[in-house]
Amino acid sequence: MGKEFPKERQPMKSALIRRLGCIGLIAFASLAYAKEPKIRTPFLEGWEQVPLEQMERQAKTYPDVYWIEGPGESKVVAFTFDDGPNPLNTPPLLKVLKKHGVHATFFQLGMWVEKYPDLARKVLADGHVLGNHSYSHPYASKLTNTAFWENEVAKTQAIFQRELGFMPTLYRPPYGEITDSQVELLRDKGIKVISWSVDTRDWLSARAMNGDAQIEGVVTNYVHPEAIVLMHDGGGPRDRTVEAVDRLIGKLKEQGYTFVTIDKLIGVAPKLAPPAEKPVAEAASAVAVE
Ligand SMILES: [Zn+2]
Repeated sequence: MGKEFPKERQPMKSALIRRLGCIGLIAFASLAYAKEPKIRTPFLEGWEQVPLEQMERQAKTYPDVYWIEGPGESKVVAFTFDDGPNPLNTPPLLKVLKKHGVHATFFQLGMWVEKYPDLARKVLADGHVLGNHSYSHPYASKLTNTAFWENEVAKTQAIFQRELGFMPTLYRPPYGEITDSQVELLRDKGIKVISWSVDTRDWLSARAMNGDAQIEGVVTNYVHPEAIVLMHDGGGPRDRTVEAVDRLIGKLKEQGYTFVTIDKLIGVAPKLAPPAEKPVAEAASAVAVE
């Protein structure tokens, strides 16, 4: 038996070494692939913007909850459109996206889904992904957590449930502004917070009126693998955004980019599991379905 002992030990030892080596490799690989989440578009003075450092810090503090870009380096880009549904802007935008065969993510306001449920259903029917963008677009830091949750997020989740039959997994904070304890509150509800890495500033009135080339320019200058691009289909006339999107899709495809929705970019289901009658602590781990 003594003869066999070293024989058996040897493979075990080398298996252990292999395993340790593997762990080392994985650690090295994750170091190599872990990227610092970063907003690429520079800070815009004079518009009471959330400091980029704050958004980047929250992305680093709450990995797997708060996202400003995808986790990897794939040549994909996620277009996002906020503040709809809007009867003037959303239909022409849907037409352009359909023409190019591209799916995007729409962060809609509860107040507008309530008012234009058919339009929200049309966005969903076209294959796009819908997220919650609050009920009334408040500055969240001015609200108590209870008011933030009940009057803005949960209220909108309930409107989605009523009008569209599901509750979104994804939440975009208006202005990109959200406190740490509000991020933690959403985390405990199984909701992901989605900001952006590229802000087209299509919300600036000069661009909303005649800045299609500027909107296009921002995206082509700052696009990067797994970018999340902020645009709008509500909050004012968005003809320029729609025109820019029409040209951008072809341009980015030429550069080798494909288009993804946010759920696919970060690897979550777009719809939350229906709220079972569970205590809050358990609901936190509610697994999204579909
Ligand atoms: Zn907004």
